[in-house]
Amino acid sequence: MEYPPELSKEEEKYLLDNLKDWSIAHGLAVRPAPTFIQPSQDPSGVLASTAPVTLFPSLFPRSCFEEGLAIQNAYNELYSAIARDEKWLQSIVEELVDIDDFVAKLWQTHLAVKKEGYVQDLSLGLFRSDYMVHKDPSQSNPAPGLKQVEFNTIASSFGGLSSQVSALHKYLLNIDAYPSSSSSLIKAEALRQSKSASSLAKGLAVAHRAYGASKTSRPLCVLFVVQDPERNVFDQRHLEYALLEENGVRSFRLPFGETLFHTTLDADRTLVYTPPNSPSTPYEVTTVYFRAGYSPEDYPKEQDWTARLHLEKSRAIKCPSILTHLAGCKKVQQVLATPHSPHLKRFLPDAEVAAQVLATFAPIYPLDSSEAGKEARSLAADPASASRYVLKPQREGGGNNIYRKAIPPFLEKLPETHWPAYILMEMIEPPPLKNAILRNGELQRGGVICELGVYGVCLWRDGSGAEKKGEILESWEAGYLLRTKGDQSEEGGVAAGFGAVDSCCLVDG
Ligand code: ADP
Ligand code: MG
Repeated sequence: MEYPPELSKEEEKYLLDNLKDWSIAHGLAVRPAPTFIQPSQDPSGVLASTAPVTLFPSLFPRSCFEEGLAIQNAYNELYSAIARDEKWLQSIVEELVDIDDFVAKLWQTHLAVKKEGYVQDLSLGLFRSDYMVHKDPSQSNPAPGLKQVEFNTIASSFGGLSSQVSALHKYLLNIDAYPSSSSSLIKAEALRQSKSASSLAKGLAVAHRAYGASKTSRPLCVLFVVQDPERNVFDQRHLEYALLEENGVRSFRLPFGETLFHTTLDADRTLVYTPPNSPSTPYEVTTVYFRAGYSPEDYPKEQDWTARLHLEKSRAIKCPSILTHLAGCKKVQQVLATPHSPHLKRFLPDAEVAAQVLATFAPIYPLDSSEAGKEARSLAADPASASRYVLKPQREGGGNNIYRKAIPPFLEKLPETHWPAYILMEMIEPPPLKNAILRNGELQRGGVICELGVYGVCLWRDGSGAEKKGEILESWEAGYLLRTKGDQSEEGGVAAGFGAVDSCCLVDG
């Protein structure tokens, strides 16, 4: 059957009118890009526009969807164990410090805090594990499997908008905006609501409570450390509102660059935030939630590194801690996913759990002088083999990767000493799908690629003493995100301007 269904002019108008109004009415919105609305047309910053969304929920194999959700607890366990294993992380980071300034700076910040002693042994992770459906091209009728694109340990975005877009698609179904010809596919039982906004907010609330009472009888708050300006602000606002409305927890937004102006550390390193609008009521910060600080562009001045150190030194729970941030390096993912890697069982002692996680890895290689590295270097240098790979630096946030045929000329220009800063990953080849995307008022129809993100909340205590094992206090799967991009684009970032938010319409077989 043709999917998505063809719409008549009248059907399309009905669907779009309702989609646009519902989106704005429910905060499925972004601040407009300057290329869409010139800043001079909106000098007071009052305008918002509909977030890029798909008109239809994309078809997604039920077995893969369920696998992704079911495996999230194992991924929480894996990454919290990595973040607690400083020695192991050090061995990974050491391969990068001489060739990657950003990773080096993060590591130095960790060492600086360690020297004075960490005063908070709780850490919060609001994770997102990203996947694509993969069909093994070497098999004749392959079953769809789930392969991981990357694991995010910092600023995992779209948890707010994801809950809204699944509600939008359900609404469009309920008002008969989808033609009856598609009713065997788009039906209530097949649509999946994402509970991510509420579930991630609950994660922040759980950390907030685990922090304990204020020692100084100040009011307590969660601090969202953010970029400024932030076009994806409503995504974050949904978490803030759920934190207050569903959990009774107060939060504030602090642009990362203003950290040192509005926060101080007490003698015992309690982090105090003084709201500029109400300087007579300072708050004690229980939890610092980083929605900034993951990219070198967030640190234009040396003072920004002082700010990161200041936050890391504090007694507030960090989401994520600097070691957890480092655990999200692509290099860590590569070390785990290089064929025949022995590392997984160090962190996942249960063989069955480790096997389930292993099954979601696509092959990833280093570009160093190891055996696997040498093999990867020849794969990457030859245009024929390079076309099955993607080259990634240790960066987050989209727009940093080098794809397929662009790899050999890129490496040719790069001094070989810098090659080990990159990892080489096999391209996942998802089955062809179609959808329509509404972005900046324009409708784009055609082939699309879908990426499933599964959120995880994990709160743990670092170990102390010789054993240093620590323990997980809370861990749960926290809803999902589906991002969909045109199949002409290699990148998938919604905020970066490549993709749209979507929801799953589950199909069997
Ligand atoms: P970032 O940290 O910048 O988000 P990602 O590893 O998620 O980096 O890569 C960005 C995008 O590139 C992904 O969203 C996906 O669309 C595409 N991509 C990355 N790795 C692969 C892969 N192995 N196969 C297919 N597409 C990929
Ligand atoms: Mg990504």
